[in-house]
Amino acid sequence: MNDCLFCKIVKGEIPSEKVYEDEYSYAFLDIRPVNPGHVLLVPKQHFANLYEMSDDVLANLAPTIKKLGIAIKKAVGADGINVGMNNDSAAGQLVFHAHIHIMPRHKGDGHEHWHGTPYQNSETNKTATQIKAHL
Ligand code: AMP
Ligand code: ZN
Repeated sequence: MNDCLFCKIVKGEIPSEKVYEDEYSYAFLDIRPVNPGHVLLVPKQHFANLYEMSDDVLANLAPTIKKLGIAIKKAVGADGINVGMNNDSAAGQLVFHAHIHIMPRHKGDGHEHWHGTPYQNSETNKTATQIKAHL
């Protein structure tokens, strides 16, 4: 993808603070970190989002998420790590090259999670049935 920001970062055409690289993936510091040490892990191959990613690449990224999570936690003395991925603009995706956020968290850092709402009556079963129908 010629005009993809993260493809350019992977190719070194745009500078980044790289922390890790292997055959499948490239990891660098997010320029607007939730907390210092916030890393973006991207597949080297261009995929717009999770749905487009090949199972092979996805499988090869999974152990890297763990490796980076452990390293970041130790490096910045974090109390916890959030792993997240935004897919589609409705979910907050701004850069349309698949990427996984690995975000260190500290007790009392003030970041809030979204608030859940309990299901009503038979909605639980109906929702699970709908999901299962698409698997
Ligand atoms: P998302 O909303 O999941 O698409 O997140 C995109 C992320 O990319 C944001 O957290 C940005 O701060 C980060 N970002 C955008 N441009 C750059 C860049 N040139 N280098 C590092 N991180 C970036
Ligand atoms: Zn790309």
